[in-house]
Amino acid sequence: MKGFSMSDEEYMKLLDRAFSKAHIVSSESSDFVIPKVDSIVQGNKTIVRNIGIIADKARRDPKEIARYISRELAVPVGIDEQRMVISGRFQAADMDKRIQRYFEIYVICRECHKPDTRLEGAGRGMFYLVCEACGSRYGVKHY
Ligand SMILES: [Zn+2]
Repeated sequence: MKGFSMSDEEYMKLLDRAFSKAHIVSSESSDFVIPKVDSIVQGNKTIVRNIGIIADKARRDPKEIARYISRELAVPVGIDEQRMVISGRFQAADMDKRIQRYFEIYVICRECHKPDTRLEGAGRGMFYLVCEACGSRYGVKHY
């Protein structure tokens, strides 16, 4: 008798279920949903506990997102294992807004609204946002 085996279809279903549990992707719609920030304040620091998930969705390095948040808030921000550690006390709603903005500017293509993009350095305080879904390419402000 063979051991545990699973068809590709079953595997995909499992993956789907795992994703919808994280309430990142709505079940039927293929519309991209920006993940919600799960943050807590600990002493004088704010900890984003799901930066790994957020970075995966954005297809960016967590350190890149930390850099952006650091610029936005003008405080030091680090990545400690799978958590983003921000100096200072910031409300979850505030963090959510900033992450949402990051996605809107630096992840989601403004032409086709898909998140299949990458950033390329363009120098002079600019990035190019390159969309792999529709092929558009445009400049965005560097953070
Ligand atoms: Zn596009």
